[in-house]
Amino acid sequence: MRRPLVAGNWKMNKTVAEARELVSSMVPKLNEVKDVEKVLCPPFVSLPAISDLLKASDIGLGAQNMYWEEKGAFTGEVSPAMVKEFCQYVILGHSERRTYFGETDETVNKRLRAAQKFDLTPIVCVGETLQQYESKQTNEVVSRQIKFGLADIDSAFAPRIVVAYEPVWAIGTGKASSGPNANDVVGKVIRRALSELFGDKTAQAIRVLYGGSVTASNAAEFFGQSEIDGALVGGASLKMDEFTAITKAACKS
Ligand code: PEP
Repeated sequence: MRRPLVAGNWKMNKTVAEARELVSSMVPKLNEVKDVEKVLCPPFVSLPAISDLLKASDIGLGAQNMYWEEKGAFTGEVSPAMVKEFCQYVILGHSERRTYFGETDETVNKRLRAAQKFDLTPIVCVGETLQQYESKQTNEVVSRQIKFGLADIDSAFAPRIVVAYEPVWAIGTGKASSGPNANDVVGKVIRRALSELFGDKTAQAIRVLYGGSVTASNAAEFFGQSEIDGALVGGASLKMDEFTAITKAACKS
């Protein structure tokens, strides 16, 4: 049984004061949702404050990225140990990092191996661009991202990895994929690639989320699919009622 997981990626939104306010109002509502792993991923600067607010709850905390080196002259970067001080999760290889900050499967893999070393649960994002989707390259692109992004990982750590299938054309556009379409990519492409890397049993144990314009109104369509184990939510995770409703939908499924 794969436990449903819903993670909120706040991206570059909310000051520390605003983050505190939002989380304080969300915690009691999210605490009512049982049997779903709930994770909030605010910007780095809010992690200490939010970590304090989440202490008495079962809500996890994640960073949106981290560097792979442990310390040193890497101005502007945040190390795995710094993330580990506050977080249990880390998002890796988000398409915005790939598009605007030059991340590649190779650098995603370095970060993933750092997450393994520091015992952080990674949420590794994969997904095709609109142009790749239109030219029917989805399977090839997503398989490659899994094959190289998740290479050289210990078999004991592999089941801890969470994959987020996020078609780039669906992120922040209001144009979500459909449940059956996303389920097909997860079942036929992502789990197959995971199976080639780690074997069938582990491929079946790894949780795969859908991400891309998930809202309270379409969440159930994705959570009702056999291969989809939750969601990585961007815009809707900044709205208390929407995010709570999405986590409740995951619980019902
Ligand atoms: C995301 O940032 O990972 C995401 C899926 O964004 P949105 O839900 O806003 O499309």
